[in-house]
Formats: sequence, structure tokens, C-alpha cells
Amino acid sequence: MRALAAQESIGQHMPLIDSYGRIIDYLRISVTDRCNFRCVYCMPEAGAPVAPKADILTFEEIERLARIAVSLGMSKIRLTGGEPLVRRDIDRLVAKIGALGGLQDLSLTTNGFLLARYAAGFAASGLTRVNVSLDTLRPDRFQGLARRGSLDEVLAGIDAAMAAGLAPLKLNCVAMRGWNDDEVVDFARLTLEQPFDVRFIELMPINWSTGDDSVREMAGFFALSAPAGHQSGDRISLYANADAATFREAFRSSAQDPAGQLDAAQMRRAFISTAEIRDRIESTLGRLEPAEVVTNGPARSYRLRGACGTVGFISQITNDMCVSCNRLRLTADGMLRPCLMADGEVDLRTPLRAGATDTEIEELFRLVVFHKPKEHRLEDGMAPVGRNMSQLGG
Ligand code: SAM
Repeated sequence: MRALAAQESIGQHMPLIDSYGRIIDYLRISVTDRCNFRCVYCMPEAGAPVAPKADILTFEEIERLARIAVSLGMSKIRLTGGEPLVRRDIDRLVAKIGALGGLQDLSLTTNGFLLARYAAGFAASGLTRVNVSLDTLRPDRFQGLARRGSLDEVLAGIDAAMAAGLAPLKLNCVAMRGWNDDEVVDFARLTLEQPFDVRFIELMPINWSTGDDSVREMAGFFALSAPAGHQSGDRISLYANADAATFREAFRSSAQDPAGQLDAAQMRRAFISTAEIRDRIESTLGRLEPAEVVTNGPARSYRLRGACGTVGFISQITNDMCVSCNRLRLTADGMLRPCLMADGEVDLRTPLRAGATDTEIEELFRLVVFHKPKEHRLEDGMAPVGRNMSQLGG
């Protein structure tokens, strides 16, 4: 617990720094595990299991945890889900968090379906920007991917967000071979005329290992897609720094059946790397020049010549983004996770409801920061299986 002690002596308003020297200043808060879409790579057709309502944090509980996080030096908060806009009175929560002093950036990730009705109010309540997830620009393809909703409504949401000044607007697209990879150039072309930051997210192995017992096979897959010069053997053991007893007790996971979602083999076939997407864009639209996008987190950003917007890549599979990871995730049922790609979380809800003081909750934040793994170990077949993305707060 050396790092923990060191942080205590520095004082509580200093930034949180993990065991690998990374400043942890970004909290993603999932406000619900429910979603009004059923994206094929994310959720079963019938929906993923949801937590009992009583387990979902109230707005007051979320506000308190957000305030504590900000007092610990976390300056960026993103609201996500599930679909955050299906949570009743979500605008009330945005206003509560928007009113917190010390927060530099409050953003939200949405599928855009209900955005038109909320955008102006969000902007007035202190939301700075939105990310809209959009995997196709073709109306006839929309239902095949999202299995709910329609492109028109999402485009209306994007227009409303732009009109409300929620900018820069990021459009996040998960490109998948055989599903929408023939649209990557169309997405990039959007940036020629519109000030969007279009970002391509590599398909992630959330729950890939459930359903076909393919952990070993998956490990082989990652070995193949690892960048040149990168070997899985040089990775240090995940959680090697853990105080084992505390850690084992505090962390938990549960298996679930993702029936109706693409299975592991289908997901692997659909995976398409950043390098391939980039090649396809450059061979049609010309060179992508490096661009600086301050709010772009781990994405690598580029610009086509003369473009208003940018093209970014979030390559968590083929590039090591862990080295610059600055975030923690709070699930809708009150678990704090240090890493999206590894099962393991600390329960904040129980102590919160048992009357824990702010200082006690701060300790739990520090514990999670202390145990934040250096990197994920997908190459070794260690993918998260406990929750799907809608339950994690992607
Ligand atoms: N409902 C909101 C939305 O659609 O943006 C927020 C939650 S959603 C889980 C957040 C993001 O995770 C979306 O951009 C979605 O495409 C992405 N996502 C879900 N499962 C994924 C996977 N297996 N690989 C990559 N991205 C995934």
C-alpha cells in the first residue's frame, strides 16, 4: 500500500495517481444498465439482464460520488449507460453534476435516439459536449445493426446537439467486417463538410469468451493482431501489486448468457483493425495528416486535407492505449472499476448506503486507483466476462 500512503501524505486535492504514475482524472458514470437499442455486438435481442431497480444508484447517490471524485482531483465526468437518456429525468442529474464546482468537462455518450428532446436543456445545464454512437449512415441498414430505432431520429439528435452548441461532437462508429466496413470511407467523408470528430472504435472482446469456450483460441487471435515488436510475454502480471486478501474480497464477477448477441466466433470474424480502416480511407480520400484534438482522450486523430472535422481511431486491440489510460468507471449499480477490459470492481453502493463518511468513500476510490492494472491482458486470453458493455458503461 505504498502508493496509497504516498497519496494520503500529499493531501486530498492532489490528483489521483496510480501505481504506474498515470494521473486518474476522468470518471465515466453509467446512469443505467438499460438501453433502447440492441446493437448486435453489445446486447442480446431480448436485452441483457438488468440490475434490480433498488440496486441502481439514485441521483443523489451519483451526485455525492461525483462530488467526492471531483474533490479527489477528477476533473472530467462522462455520463453513459446503457443508454443514459432512457433514465427518467436524466436532465435533473445533468443539472446536478453540471453545478458541481471544480469540474472542467461534463460530457455524455448516447445512441442519439432521444437526444433531440434533451440537447438544448443539457447545454443550459452545463453539459459541454456529446458523443453519439452511430454505426451506419444507411437507413435500410440501421435496423440490422441496432435492431431498434431509426437513422432519422439519430440524425435529428445530432442536429439538435450541434444547434445547442454541444461541440465538438464526436461520432463513434464500431466498424465490423461484413456489417458496415463498406461505409468507413463515407463516415470519413462526412468530416470534409461537417465539424465532426468521427472516431472508429475497434470491436472489443467484451464477453467474447462466453458461449463458445474460446479463451485459448482468442489468445491466439490477439497474438496475431499484436503490433510488430510487441509480445504478450513482456507484460507484467495483472494486479501483481495487489494486496491479495483485500483485493479478492472486494472484487467480484458473475457469468451471464449473452444469447442473441453475436457469438465469439462471429465477433472475431467481424473484427477489423484500425490499420485496415485507415488504409481504406486513405486510398480513396487521400492522406490523413495528424491532428490535435484536445478532448479526444485515447483516440489518435487525423485530418483529411481541407476538412472541417477529424478522423480518429480508438485502437484498444491493436495499439496499447493502456499507457495513457486516465479513467475509472462507476457502474449503474454502484461498483467502481479500474479497467474496462478486466473483471474486477469495488462495491461503493453498500458502504454508501450503510452510512460511510466521505473520507471512507475516498479511501475506496484510492484503493481502486491503487489496483488499476498496468494494462489489459487480452493477448493472454483474459477478457472480461462478468458484464457486457451496456452494463459496464462503455
Ligand atoms: N448507449 C450509449 C451509446 O450508444 O453510446 C452509451 C453506452 S454504449 C455501451 C457505449 C459505446 O460502446 C457505443 O459507442 C458502442 O458502440 C460501444 N460498444 C458496445 N459494445 C462494444 C464492443 N464489443 N466493442 C466496441 N465498442 C462497443
